[in-house]
Amino acid sequence: MTKVGVLGLQGAVREHVRSIEASGAEALVVKKVEQLAEIDGLILPGGESTTMRRLINQYGFLSPLQQFGKEGKPIFGTCAGLILLANEIAGQDQPHLGLMDMKVERNAFGRQRESFETSLKITGVADDFEAVFIRAPYIVSVGDEVEVLATYQDAIVSAKQGHFLCSAFHPELTNDHRLTQFFVKMVEEAKKELAL
Ligand code: GLN
Repeated sequence: MTKVGVLGLQGAVREHVRSIEASGAEALVVKKVEQLAEIDGLILPGGESTTMRRLINQYGFLSPLQQFGKEGKPIFGTCAGLILLANEIAGQDQPHLGLMDMKVERNAFGRQRESFETSLKITGVADDFEAVFIRAPYIVSVGDEVEVLATYQDAIVSAKQGHFLCSAFHPELTNDHRLTQFFVKMVEEAKKELAL
């Protein structure tokens, strides 16, 4: 069975486990670098990106995560996880993992709209996806190899670059598992290709 990990250092971990299982794959909470060898794809959950980065450094995850992505294994970053994937963060000198060619802005929807829900059209996934935004970032710009999957009021809120997927919103907090299912399919396909 396809095994999808959720980086379990901080943030919305359990909800992703539930969503992965509802999408027909096996889930593993990844707390140690060695566990990366057991999984076919990985979700970087929402939470707080600077805290997550501190824990990534503390547990020696930075280059193993970059390596995992460079080997062709799929990674899905949600909210804080999207910030971790970006190669440029507005107002910051250095990115975190830097695996996706895009510039992001943290807490980009402003104070009045800290959290909200909306129905989104996500290319290849759904016309009416129930998206939950919590102190969400958005993507300011993307490189040529990045496919924009969803926008909300002109801001890019979901994108894909090869085997990397991201969303500014939380796809795991409702019973709408279609985006997780889309990622599980990406993982299944990559697993087949990497086995050839
Ligand atoms: N605002 C958070 C950050 O900058 C992300 C919020 C979230 O993951 N829900 O890390």
